[in-house]
Amino acid sequence: MTDTSLSWLYFHLTRQEYGSVSLDLKPNIWINTTNIVMPPRCFEAYIYETAFIGMVVSAVEVYPQECLGALLGYRAWNSVDVTRRAIVENAISYQTAERTRNTVEIKPRHEFRCKDMLYKLCSLEFIGNFHSHPDANTTLSKTDINSMEIGNIEIVISVNKKKRTTPWEYNAKTNELCGVFGDYRFTVAAYSCFKDGDAKKYEKIELLCPFALGIGSKFMDIIAAIPK
Ligand SMILES: [Zn+2]
Repeated sequence: MTDTSLSWLYFHLTRQEYGSVSLDLKPNIWINTTNIVMPPRCFEAYIYETAFIGMVVSAVEVYPQECLGALLGYRAWNSVDVTRRAIVENAISYQTAERTRNTVEIKPRHEFRCKDMLYKLCSLEFIGNFHSHPDANTTLSKTDINSMEIGNIEIVISVNKKKRTTPWEYNAKTNELCGVFGDYRFTVAAYSCFKDGDAKKYEKIELLCPFALGIGSKFMDIIAAIPK
């Protein structure tokens, strides 16, 4: 994914409260009830059915090129651990993304229009992006890492032509969700971007998607002929 470098200060300024947590005027800085300033950090991602379907369909639609979209949801937290889990309720694909087989970017003004409309229309927050890696693994590129914002997550969907059918499963060692649907094999990974001292860091985090684990019966894996 290419760096779009658009600041979303607007959203943080206009949304003053998030549950019982108040937002400071700086982006991605939260103040809890004891006034300790901490940037949010997600340790795991929970993906709803609607978000999963949105990401998979986007990845397949443009295969073998890359897809790109916004993740909508919220960050569940408790007062002890600050942010623990990114809840991804929906995934919206950017239609105007300019794509190749290994890059994808959206013009800042188009990205702004989408996020501005989403803010006005729904109660969910922008919590990161998703994009696909056609015929490649889920490892983040240098550009992917640079474009991540502290407090947000990035979901990467690797799409390959399938060789054999396997049920959907979660690999706890690699923190990846993997399975076959139709003609394609998908591997999904989530990354969290966080602040460590003055440094911006990222890590692969645990991924929960109960819906995906129910996919993979032989009845759902019928391959339909592509219309000419
Ligand atoms: Zn990438």
